[in-house]
Amino acid sequence: IVILVAAWSAARSVLLRPIAALGDAAQRLGTGDLTARARVPGATRELRILALAFNRMGRQLGIRDRQLSEALRALHVSEERHRLLADNATDMITLFDRDFQRTYVSPACKDVLGYTQTELLGRNPQEIVHEDDLAIMEAQLHGPLRAGQATALSTFRTRHKDGTYRWLEVSGRRLPDGGGFVVVTRDVTRRKTVEQALEAANRQLEALAMEDPLTGLANRRRFDFLLDKEWRRSCRRNLPLSVVMLDADWFKQYNDTFGHPAGDVCLQGIASAIEGVLRRPADLAARYGGEEFVVMLPDTDHAGARHMAERIRAAVRALAKPHPESPYGIVTVSLGVATAWPLPNGEPGGQGALVSAADHALYEAKASGRNVARATELGLVPQTGDSAEA
Ligand code: GH3
Ligand code: MG
Ligand code: MG
Repeated sequence: IVILVAAWSAARSVLLRPIAALGDAAQRLGTGDLTARARVPGATRELRILALAFNRMGRQLGIRDRQLSEALRALHVSEERHRLLADNATDMITLFDRDFQRTYVSPACKDVLGYTQTELLGRNPQEIVHEDDLAIMEAQLHGPLRAGQATALSTFRTRHKDGTYRWLEVSGRRLPDGGGFVVVTRDVTRRKTVEQALEAANRQLEALAMEDPLTGLANRRRFDFLLDKEWRRSCRRNLPLSVVMLDADWFKQYNDTFGHPAGDVCLQGIASAIEGVLRRPADLAARYGGEEFVVMLPDTDHAGARHMAERIRAAVRALAKPHPESPYGIVTVSLGVATAWPLPNGEPGGQGALVSAADHALYEAKASGRNVARATELGLVPQTGDSAEA
């Protein structure tokens, strides 16, 4: 009995207790207590080796757990920071899937588009982009991104929830591994409005620089520019080009009689009379100087130009503006007509000779009593066989 009791007691401390301690530690580890360690003093060598290995595993798990927690905390901080950025950015940040459906929208969407995040999620931008700008969005943004381009930028109009259209500047970037796209959207309506106003102002300024402020006709600069173009066109096509130069008669006396402001009104009347006579879109009337006007008549031969000059003279007379100092009793104009047939290889700058000829004809009209038209044809009539000989 004594031997049996001694054997049982020895077995208890060498085998059963260490096994129980190991089992207990394993249970604690299994429920998440990574500090659990097995203490087996006096156990058999095999059990001590087992406990040592178990405790080493516990320590390793503890180290991994701490590393994991730290990584998670860092991830959380970074995510918080990004969320804070996305939530507080005035630009709207959107994530799109590969079909350009929104998977995330930052709260700025309320300011930029007027819609809540939920209203926009799962939908695509085509629904609210201006129909005239859909092609622009496709060509500059969606197309390139879909085709694999890393970044793309576009500006187009999108309908705000309040029904008005806003100019949006949209820059997109491809996410790695084909995970869709991230897009930053900014409202640039104010900038665009200023740009458009500036463009309109520039256009107006350009027009003003080309327009005579008193009569609204083209000014001399515009006339010279267009005559140069028309001369070259006439050279290429071998078409006749005519110019009528006209000048108000005894206009100094008109001013002296009625005053300069009345003279200005009279000049406006003459300008309207000239404009009323011109029919073709390419015809151009301009104020050449003080009370001098010039008319360009493309593709008009000499007879046609003389006819037009007569009609202008009649139109001014029909104004019936009293001019007591004139022998005709009314305001009249004298006109000089010149026509040229520029050859296909016609000299550039030949239009200068054409204007000089018209001016010279006007001088003759003045010399022969005024209120008449005189005409001259430049020696550039096409040399076509027999008719030229004749
Ligand atoms: P002519 O029949 O030889 O052309 O005589 P004219 O008095 O018209 O010619 P002249 O060249 O001697 O004078 C032109 C006058 O036209 C001088 C000026 O009083 C007037 N004039 C020129 N520009 C303007 C203008 O912008 N407004 C007004 N009211 N008068 C102008
Ligand atoms: Mg005059
Ligand atoms: Mg004059």
